Amino acid sequence: MADKLAFIAEDTESLAQQGLKINIRTIGSACGPWMVVDGKRVLNFCTNNYLGLADHPRMKEAAKAAIDKWGVGPAAVRSIAGTLELHLQLEKRLAAFKGVEDALYVQSGFCANQAVIPPLVGKEDVIFSDRLNHASIIDGCRLSGAKILVYEHCDPADAERVIRENRPNFRRGLLITDGVFSMDGDVAPLDKLYRVAERYGVLTMVDDAHGEGVLGRGGRGIVDHFGLHGKFDVEMGTLSKAFGVVGGVLAGKKIIIDYLRQKARPFLFSSAVTAADTAACLAAVDLLEESTELVDRLWENTRYFKAEMKGLGFDTGPSVTPITPVMLGEAPVAMQFSHRLFQEGLFAMALGFPTVPKGKARIRVMVSASHSRADLDKGLEIFKKVGKETGVI
Ligand SMILES: *Cc1c(COP(=O)(O)O)cnc(C)c1O
Repeated sequence: MADKLAFIAEDTESLAQQGLKINIRTIGSACGPWMVVDGKRVLNFCTNNYLGLADHPRMKEAAKAAIDKWGVGPAAVRSIAGTLELHLQLEKRLAAFKGVEDALYVQSGFCANQAVIPPLVGKEDVIFSDRLNHASIIDGCRLSGAKILVYEHCDPADAERVIRENRPNFRRGLLITDGVFSMDGDVAPLDKLYRVAERYGVLTMVDDAHGEGVLGRGGRGIVDHFGLHGKFDVEMGTLSKAFGVVGGVLAGKKIIIDYLRQKARPFLFSSAVTAADTAACLAAVDLLEESTELVDRLWENTRYFKAEMKGLGFDTGPSVTPITPVMLGEAPVAMQFSHRLFQEGLFAMALGFPTVPKGKARIRVMVSASHSRADLDKGLEIFKKVGKETGVI
């Protein structure tokens, strides 16, 4: 009998040969500017901890206090017995923070995209999707059963063409875009996309996972950045990146958010987020509302790091956000570069196909408010050394 699992070994070997096999590292400390990774203390340029909240004393205090009061798990889905007072407080605070009518807190950003898309569109409908939308958006779209039509990346004119040609053949249309694209760090032209969608009566949704806590006044996100309050139908976000905890949020018009409480499957069929995580998210909202200091420092660090990297001769792509890709071409080159950075004490991930297109492999640097100027300088020094040694600069 043939080995029925042989395909796995073959596929894994093929990934390894193409330099696409992921090396999963183990973290041995809290998430901060320096971390213990595979037993080695390294400078961390790899996490989405934009504001340094993942290890913030006030966040940890809030989580500990919540455990004492609420215990560790709700042991129920939100719609049965898992909706804690804390969840409702957080939803109210997030809605106010983002300037929308209502918000729903779910288990993760990934879940949020699965939660929101299927209730809004189905088999008779059409989704207009940016070519580079995140995998969790794509999966949410597929789950809905709606026809998925792709428009060119960040191209409102192409979006308009696709909508004009196809919208009449379907019952409802939904335009979905990432806000900040996580691989390139560029920003969707949300104002223009909104005008196009409005013209054709198409519903609108933006995934603000990398804009939350980063863009807009005091980190209020991409809708705030463009001054489009109350216009986008749904803003999806995550509390797992700048907010430093875990969870996803769907924010927008009350009629939609209430509908999700009836229809969203991750809300109905997967247990609620813990009290500790929810309380930590509440502390994050407090911190963001109290001061813009962390967001300001994030941008200061971003501007400094990018200018210096460009000065060294690196190609940092089209990014206008703290996400800083260092373009290296083929995946094996990026893998080797990342490996050398790590040996020199810098942790930054190489990303290759299928996370990014073939031939566009890169190291992705994530700048954080928690990096000191000395940390950034140390990182630049290591990039310079490895860049020269490999002939990239
Ligand atoms: C990270 C990310 C998500 C998933 O968020 P999680 O909270 O980590 O599940 C969704 N969309 C985009 C664009 C992301 O970058």
